[in-house]
Amino acid sequence: MIVAELKPLQEIADSVAQYGKVDVVACGGCVSVCLTGGLKSAEELRRELSHPKYYMGRPPLFQVQSIQRQCEKDFVRSYFTPSPGTGAVLSMACGAGVQTLAEAFNKLPVIPAMNTTFLGSLDGPGLWTEKCHGCGNCVLGLTGGICPVARCAKRLLNGPCGGSSEGKCEVGGHLNCAWHLIIERLKSLGRLEDYDRLFPVKDWSVDKAGGPRSLGRLRPSY
Ligand code: SF4
Ligand code: SF4
Repeated sequence: MIVAELKPLQEIADSVAQYGKVDVVACGGCVSVCLTGGLKSAEELRRELSHPKYYMGRPPLFQVQSIQRQCEKDFVRSYFTPSPGTGAVLSMACGAGVQTLAEAFNKLPVIPAMNTTFLGSLDGPGLWTEKCHGCGNCVLGLTGGICPVARCAKRLLNGPCGGSSEGKCEVGGHLNCAWHLIIERLKSLGRLEDYDRLFPVKDWSVDKAGGPRSLGRLRPSY
């Protein structure tokens, strides 16, 4: 899922301070699952942001709404109507949701309340960790299901580097070396021969280096 976290409250307050009325729009998708951008969080944000301590003058009036998936134009257009007199929309979705809202309501400023951080998984109670970088050319089949692109600090495809020590990455003592994990996993799978395969130079044109990517699916005609 896409993991996002709330921006600092003062930063959000500064970005909405000029408006008299602001719609806070929750998203029922990924950010709701990672407990940051759903309806409950939007209500909490509305309460917090209404406090005068964040403003030089009067705080804006906040109204909460929710869209099941802000990253889908049809949902946005069908289920969201800006409240009368609203000056801006404060989106609690990931960056894709913010941009979908901005395209759908191009006369209304849409302001992000979140910092979108990574594609990750829930690894323990309240703990999400990065697992995929969306590189467009998945190598998990050769790396024991552990992603070197997202989980190795240097994105090495033929690791480990010299900084790997006792299973830890040189970047920080708490961080496991992804390549140590890969080798251990391949050993337990009895597939250590996969480690001997040298990855060819990766085609980064299917990653972000190739510009914004898209996926088209045509509806079958019956
Ligand atoms: S190899 Fe690429 S697509 Fe596969 S998990 Fe890693 S970043 Fe994601
Ligand atoms: S120590 Fe391991 S995880 Fe860290 S940069 Fe080197 S190979 Fe990658």
